[in-house]
Amino acid sequence: MKLQEVMGRLPRANLAPLPTPITRLYNTENRLQYRKLYLKRDDLTGLGAGGNKVRSLEYLIGHAMEQGCDTLVASGQDQSNLCALTAAAAARADMGCVLIHNSPKPDANRGNRLLNHILGVETIFLDNTPQAEREQFAQNYCRQLSAKGRRPYLIENGATTGRGALGYVHAMLELVKQRKEQDLSIRHLFAPGGNGGIAAGLIYGNALLGFPFKLHIISVEDTAAVLSAHISDTIHQIEAITGLPFSHTLDQAADINDAYRGEGWAIPTQESQAEVLRFARDEGIFIEHVYTAKLMVGFTDYLKSGKIDADACAIHTGGFGALFAQYP
Ligand SMILES: *Cc1c(COP(=O)(O)O)cnc(C)c1O
Repeated sequence: MKLQEVMGRLPRANLAPLPTPITRLYNTENRLQYRKLYLKRDDLTGLGAGGNKVRSLEYLIGHAMEQGCDTLVASGQDQSNLCALTAAAAARADMGCVLIHNSPKPDANRGNRLLNHILGVETIFLDNTPQAEREQFAQNYCRQLSAKGRRPYLIENGATTGRGALGYVHAMLELVKQRKEQDLSIRHLFAPGGNGGIAAGLIYGNALLGFPFKLHIISVEDTAAVLSAHISDTIHQIEAITGLPFSHTLDQAADINDAYRGEGWAIPTQESQAEVLRFARDEGIFIEHVYTAKLMVGFTDYLKSGKIDADACAIHTGGFGALFAQYP
């Protein structure tokens, strides 16, 4: 069976207005004296402050509903984009929502936390608990909910699972269709790599479609070796769901670059700090510090240094809500 058919049979909730637009970056082109540059607007996914996690949630919530679940349980830090988008998606899907934050209760409701407050979801603060313990707590909490007669659906590992990554297999099908319909010449595609869910979905989809794009994954967190291991794990999980083998090595299938991550997750670099301002002032589009700022630093460096020489597109993965809490 073909990828498209298999994807069409998997349970999926309709949450995002798709396809998201592809915008030309005229002012960045002029500044860099480069050929055509594009931005895939996955910040415009139509729920909350928008972002990539809505695509994951379409498949996770589809799966949850298929199993008759009535409550989504997500965990992350208090500014987590996953948590905020889960809260909004739960409202939309008419489900309950519990957020478990491994960070102290903040004094003020800022950024994504404000949106969660407005959405009125149940929130638990665990202080600075390590991620593994947070996940353990979430599992136990689900058992307690079940004992009370609720039907919880646990969103694990920041939605970076095979099921969540299906959102970016879908995005790859969408990109190929959009490129054809709009007669775009995009050859290189750039995306950020955190836990590697976006990367796994894109790499898997791109390979099964015969490599329509050259993929560049810009790590914002880990070394290329560690990120690659996460991506491989997630690709295996996708294979188990779709039944269609990947049958390539990761090295052949994508360029995974850790040169722009600085000291790691959520720690800005000088360049990424400047890029938040540069991008807004050039394009009128806001990016935040953790993901898209580092992605755009990598993207523009590839263009400036002549590492690539064909039309290119970066994926804006959103996170706008968190921007309001990223300036003290
Ligand atoms: C979670 C997130 C990412 C990273 O996604 P992974 O699948 O973990 O690599 C990128 N951008 C934003 C805005 C996110 O919230």
